[in-house]
Amino acid sequence: MRITLFFILVGALFFSCDTVDKKKRKVNYSFSCLDSALGGSATNKTLDKAGKIFRDLTVDEKSITDDLQNQYGEAFHKDVIENKTFELLDDAAINNDLKTTMDELLQQVEDPSKIKYMIYAIKDSMINAFTFGGRIYVTTGMYKKCGGKTPLLYSIIGHEIGHSELGHIKKVIHEMMVADKIFGDNAETALQVTKLLTGSFNQRNELEADYFGTDLTNSLNQDICSAVTFWKEMAKMENQYNRLEDFFRTHPFSDLRAQCLERHIRENFNIECSGGKK
Ligand SMILES: [Zn+2]
Repeated sequence: MRITLFFILVGALFFSCDTVDKKKRKVNYSFSCLDSALGGSATNKTLDKAGKIFRDLTVDEKSITDDLQNQYGEAFHKDVIENKTFELLDDAAINNDLKTTMDELLQQVEDPSKIKYMIYAIKDSMINAFTFGGRIYVTTGMYKKCGGKTPLLYSIIGHEIGHSELGHIKKVIHEMMVADKIFGDNAETALQVTKLLTGSFNQRNELEADYFGTDLTNSLNQDICSAVTFWKEMAKMENQYNRLEDFFRTHPFSDLRAQCLERHIRENFNIECSGGKK
């Protein structure tokens, strides 16, 4: 019962996260394509108010430093291994692809945080990737979908870096601490945290991380349209396969995401993704 309440509350709070710590970048981050498509924000406004009241009562978000995020990441990873929540892939070539891609992207981050990044491949046929406290996890399903160290892999890992650099993970930790204060010592197993991570980011955060990953990928002269193609393909699959339900609950707006990203690329980089010009 307490666990259920925990997740309902966290879910609700996440709707309200629309003030984001944004790093200064030259490109313009526009969310109007989301706002106009989603419309009817009355519910979000109510949840926003509720979220603010809880926040004022409890943990100061500023106390969640990069160092604390690193500690959370380390604890999460330890828990994941001990409880066999998921299995790490022992493949030097794949792990090397992930590590070098991540390192190249990190070198492109302007005004980087002090978050320590590590990346792992996990054995899972589901197409997914997620991050917590600087630890990035990419499923073998996602790696295969990318087809190795491709522009798409850059975009996916860049997206995950974005969640940390843009302060989204800080918010996850904040919500965890708020919930803990309200509900007491709910032992957060890695599984629960994983659910939180893969289920709670709102669409605005997802899109913002997409923009961030796209910008980093572009700085490395990689094809940024591959991410648009990916989301278009995912949108088609959404209608076809229920077995991918988990992933699409996390990212339930692939088609809109593709459109917003395509527009972002057109307006900021003057590249027309569907026009064939690259
Ligand atoms: Zn994401």
